[in-house]
Amino acid sequence: MVQDAIAENAIMSFLLACPSCGPRDVNEFRFQGEVTRRPGPEPSLRDLSDYVYFRDNVAGVQREWWYHRTGCGVWFVAERDTRTNEVLRTEIPPPVGAGRAASSDATVPGGPTV
Ligand SMILES: [Zn+2]
Repeated sequence: MVQDAIAENAIMSFLLACPSCGPRDVNEFRFQGEVTRRPGPEPSLRDLSDYVYFRDNVAGVQREWWYHRTGCGVWFVAERDTRTNEVLRTEIPPPVGAGRAASSDATVPGGPTV
């Protein structure tokens, strides 16, 4: 009984819409973490530590980096409800300095700067 419940909950799959390819099984993608913002030009050690080691880990809607690893290879941002895995929106953010301040300075930890 408990094992059945664990097995039933262990299968976690949902559709994620790649901005280039459209809806695909989430197993085609790689999750790369929450969207973060780089600290300012002269950050304190605390700012750097927060940037490198700490995440908000929201129970609700958060912006996340995803990579279409078995498809087109594009990096994009998804807004996903972490409680339900409902994906509300996906987009390819503009390059850094392209003028959209809201998401243009977001970077992937260990990934590309877009
Ligand atoms: Zn794709």
